Amino acid sequence: MTWDRIGVVALGLLLVSGASGAGEKASVAWHPSRPRLGDVAWLHVQNVAEIATVEGSVDGRPLTFFPYASGHAALLGIDLEMKPGAHAWRVGVVEHGREPRIAQGKLLVARRDFPLERLTLPQTMVDLDPETERRAVAESQVLATLYRTITPERLWRGKFTKPVGRPAAGTGFGARRIINGQSRSPHGGIDYSVPRGTPVVAANAGRVALVAEFFFQGRLVILDHGLGLYTLYFHLDTTSVDEGERVERGQTLGTVGATGRATGPHLHFGAQVGAARIDPAALLGLSLLD
Ligand SMILES: [Zn+2]
Repeated sequence: MTWDRIGVVALGLLLVSGASGAGEKASVAWHPSRPRLGDVAWLHVQNVAEIATVEGSVDGRPLTFFPYASGHAALLGIDLEMKPGAHAWRVGVVEHGREPRIAQGKLLVARRDFPLERLTLPQTMVDLDPETERRAVAESQVLATLYRTITPERLWRGKFTKPVGRPAAGTGFGARRIINGQSRSPHGGIDYSVPRGTPVVAANAGRVALVAEFFFQGRLVILDHGLGLYTLYFHLDTTSVDEGERVERGQTLGTVGATGRATGPHLHFGAQVGAARIDPAALLGLSLLD
């Protein structure tokens, strides 16, 4: 197999140059063209048959493609602690009767300044006894394993919606946290301050991947939207769905509470693309729609 390496361009938009010359030229575009930390970006490979095989990677990590708008698309989560600057990407297209084509370039990731947050919590929620420490570590491993699990089909459709109705916006994504004077890992989601008992709804269609009660996250529901995209609902008072269940956008998952490590009733809403912690607000503004 020979790969045509003509279509090499430095940034964002480019043509994948085919050797056979037949038909329209495929094009590759990133949306947004210059994402920032915490964004969910997507790569659009256009004018490629739905039956074509498309594969690609960023920094050597594979992307998961799906058919979209006369071509193929893949999501890229820009983790809140990703290194800003240039990240190498490549895309390969194999279509029947044509020579394989390849494109590559660099995606520029913009930095973003996150706020500093000082919190005071009961010392027992910060300095864990060995048994609780083991529990918390085991639970974080369960989550890490889940986020690495990629359901090959896309379960979400259209726009993502806020999981709680009333407040204008969630707060605190990426906040660097100083808890009881000690530096801790940054805040990976947004918090909605709403009264206990407020219904929490699914941001989009998916499958219930996990219902559990964890030390830090409290009572939780995690939805698998397919292709490595997950949404997270933490500190719930009650849950009303079962693992494995398919849910629709807007379906009630449970109610707001203050379970786990929480200073008061609120919903912690998170989103992951694989291991990348993305800003749920970016997911709510995702421009990939159908
Ligand atoms: Zn939170």
